[in-house]
Amino acid sequence: MRFQEECDDILMHIGRTPLVALRRIGRGLPVPVLVKCEHMNPGGSVKDRIAKAIVDDAEARGTLRPGATLIEATAGNTGMGLALVAAARGYALVCVMPEKMSVDKRVALSAVGARVVVTPNAPPSSPENFRNVARRMAGENGWFLTDQFNNPANVRIHEETTGAEILEQTGGSVGAFVAGAGTGGTISGVGRRLKSVLGRVRIVLADPVGSGLADWVETGRIGPDGAYAVEGIGGSDAPENLHRAVIDSAERVSDEESFAMVKRLVREEGLLVGGSAGTNVVAALRVAARGDLDGPVVTVLPDAWDRYRAKPWMQGWPP
Ligand code: PMP
Repeated sequence: MRFQEECDDILMHIGRTPLVALRRIGRGLPVPVLVKCEHMNPGGSVKDRIAKAIVDDAEARGTLRPGATLIEATAGNTGMGLALVAAARGYALVCVMPEKMSVDKRVALSAVGARVVVTPNAPPSSPENFRNVARRMAGENGWFLTDQFNNPANVRIHEETTGAEILEQTGGSVGAFVAGAGTGGTISGVGRRLKSVLGRVRIVLADPVGSGLADWVETGRIGPDGAYAVEGIGGSDAPENLHRAVIDSAERVSDEESFAMVKRLVREEGLLVGGSAGTNVVAALRVAARGDLDGPVVTVLPDAWDRYRAKPWMQGWPP
């Protein structure tokens, strides 16, 4: 029946997000700046793509039995993507989050039925680090660790969908692709796809000031560990899914620049996005301003603003 095929379930509507131009913020630049609206995915972020891809992959390999428990170390967005997939496919879900992540994300994940475990903001070397806690709990309980930082299905889905969509939506003309890295899935997968087709495309990491990844891109060594408030990107070690060979350069963006840009995206473009979208757009505008590109600069808007209402940076936005 046609109706059923097209309306099957919400998971079919992940991806194929709009690509739009920053008509006001990007005005006057040598090349257009185009943003991929990942905040318009059903779960509100780019992470819906990898949640479905990782579960599809595990099911195909026979790793997941009906009713199994999934566990992930997540800043919240992967958790929400997994919560959708868990709901639609009948799995249980445990999310391990560092305490710096917003209360809104915690409340939302609990509301969708996930068990949320909050860990201290501990470095990767600490047993209390959220990734180490998730791995330990998976082993102890026989749960399936979706493992977004290492699972190759993460990079692969961005190569096959996000990257392919960008090529299609731009008619194959991209001068540069800019993105922050949490797991690295977005920048590595899209970067790999674009570079396989376009000889001169530049892949640029957008990194918060305080993250060590920009130094790593430039020198191969992780930079000093500092504090920053933008969520979901940057870090003090390079995950397996962040492929250095695909990245050409890095742009460092402060919290102040990122959050000021979110306000502009909301008010001048009607794009209702979160902090890392601000980081990505600040970096994309810098890259576009250099004027040495073959085509537009493309970046992603990873998630939506409603996850951050309780955060200090979203207070005090009067007209
Ligand atoms: N922005 C936000 C808000 C995120 O949650 C994430 C994922 N951690 C990213 C950007 C980065 O995406 P990726 O994991 O693909 O590098």
